Amino acid sequence: MKEDKKLICHLCKEELKRAKTFFKYLGHSFHTDLLRCPKCGQVFIPEELTKGRMADVEMQLEDK
Ligand SMILES: [Zn+2]
Repeated sequence: MKEDKKLICHLCKEELKRAKTFFKYLGHSFHTDLLRCPKCGQVFIPEELTKGRMADVEMQLEDK
């Protein structure tokens, strides 16, 4: 992953930290590194993740 830009939670003004996060998207469950607010737990899902990387993940899942 090459997203090194700092992201701030717009609710808490806290810097988001990368963390292993379990979440559901489009009926699939994913366990991956996502930026997460340490205060409120809000997960930031980058647009490129939903557009590009998700497709990769789904392909990996089907590959099994
Ligand atoms: Zn927050």
